[in-house]
Amino acid sequence: TLKNPNEPEFLQAVLEVAETVIPFIEQNAKYQNKMLLERMVEADRIVIFRVAWIDDKGEIQVNRGYRIQMNSAIGPYKGGLRFHPTVNLSVLKFLAFEQTFKNSLTTLPMGGGKGGSDFDPKGKSDNEVMRFCQSFMIELSKYIGADIDVPAGDIGVGAREVGYLFGQYKKIRNEFTGVLTGKGVSFGGSLIRPEATGYGVVYFAQSMLATKGNDMKDKIVTVSGSGNVAQYAVQKATQLGAKVVTMSDSAGYIYDADGIDAEKLAHVMYLKNELRTRISEYVLKYSNAKYIEGAKPWEQKCDIALPCATQNELDEESAKTLVANGCICVAEGANMPSTYEAVVVFHDAKILFAPGKASNAGGVATSGLEMSQNSLRLSWTAEEVDEKLRKIMLNIHAACVQYGADADGYVDYVKGANIAGFVKVADAMLAQGVV
Ligand code: NDP
Repeated sequence: TLKNPNEPEFLQAVLEVAETVIPFIEQNAKYQNKMLLERMVEADRIVIFRVAWIDDKGEIQVNRGYRIQMNSAIGPYKGGLRFHPTVNLSVLKFLAFEQTFKNSLTTLPMGGGKGGSDFDPKGKSDNEVMRFCQSFMIELSKYIGADIDVPAGDIGVGAREVGYLFGQYKKIRNEFTGVLTGKGVSFGGSLIRPEATGYGVVYFAQSMLATKGNDMKDKIVTVSGSGNVAQYAVQKATQLGAKVVTMSDSAGYIYDADGIDAEKLAHVMYLKNELRTRISEYVLKYSNAKYIEGAKPWEQKCDIALPCATQNELDEESAKTLVANGCICVAEGANMPSTYEAVVVFHDAKILFAPGKASNAGGVATSGLEMSQNSLRLSWTAEEVDEKLRKIMLNIHAACVQYGADADGYVDYVKGANIAGFVKVADAMLAQGVV
């Protein structure tokens, strides 16, 4: 706390890991007295830089850019870029710290990183977004590279932004490499990358449900968010026979008792990805649905909840409501969407609960597959990538069960994910000496 004042999100993420990993270290002599966790909470390096750009009125705007290179014990730094006004050092450090464990869980050779800016893409023209991305990359390009650090998308950074960032990197460095993932398919992107995080969350939920002899069929699902992760979580859950009744954005949520089927989801994608407007507009077309302003979907009765918007969007009160309404499974699509207190509620109720670092790892795993395809100079089919994604999610689930099963048979997926992620990074750090 003393070393990281005013960084509540980072401290929250570290506390959750420390609580589960410290007892494991105490039981395993090889990890003792090596200051492993102490080293892991300290980033390899952090760069903070000015991003000046010119808006459509010809006025100069100034934002702050960041890249956190957290840990490269098992591979080049890897993690997304977030463009959102709430971006600060605490948020990016928590994300980079979690990313290190998540990337380790994927079994692919990727270290942990994260970056972004307090730039708000909302309400900006395409040209403004492009000029911002170009200015951002002028500085970021000094620190990244296909074998050094490979950024990707996150909140506010999708295919459009990755395209502009890649174009600028190529211009500055005169090299065409897999320096970013989430690229367009015509210039090195992987099929299934846009779908991967959302699909992966649902695959993970399927594995959890299977441990109880259950599945997605006919389940009522609440989803928060309406961005990349939420859209494809809705698509996959619906394909598997579930009925998704909510989606949201930062202003409120829609409730559709008939379910957000494929046609309605296509309309959500049009509203959010093409028009870049609000989820509230859903009810203009589907008048049977309700829009509830300023609230979160967790007040609706469901069997499965998939929080896919942002950190700390599901608090203790919401967790209690979910449990009281009979929710049996919560799988995080976003990073740390449940507060510390909410996770305690889920564990006390012994419902299935998956932390984002396990259940949303399909996105970065598929980014890892994009890096492999770029290095090999070839493209796998959608079926091939989807099959690899499924296998990776199954393996992550198995690793969580291996390290997270309690004496009474209840699987603590938080403990399982933290320890499984820790072991690989710790072993690599031990082998590489004190650096
Ligand atoms: P998008 O930008 O595509 O969508 C974000 C969604 O979350 C939007 O609906 C947005 O609403 C909502 N949101 C953002 N900030 C807030 C807030 N402060 N309060 C309420 N709602 C908010 O991002 P992604 O779908 O890519 O990311 C969503 C989450 O998933 C993040 O936690 C991200 O870190 C995580 N994640 C993403 C991965 C990926 O592959 N994209 C991989 C792994 C994790 P609005 O439009 O109103 O801002």
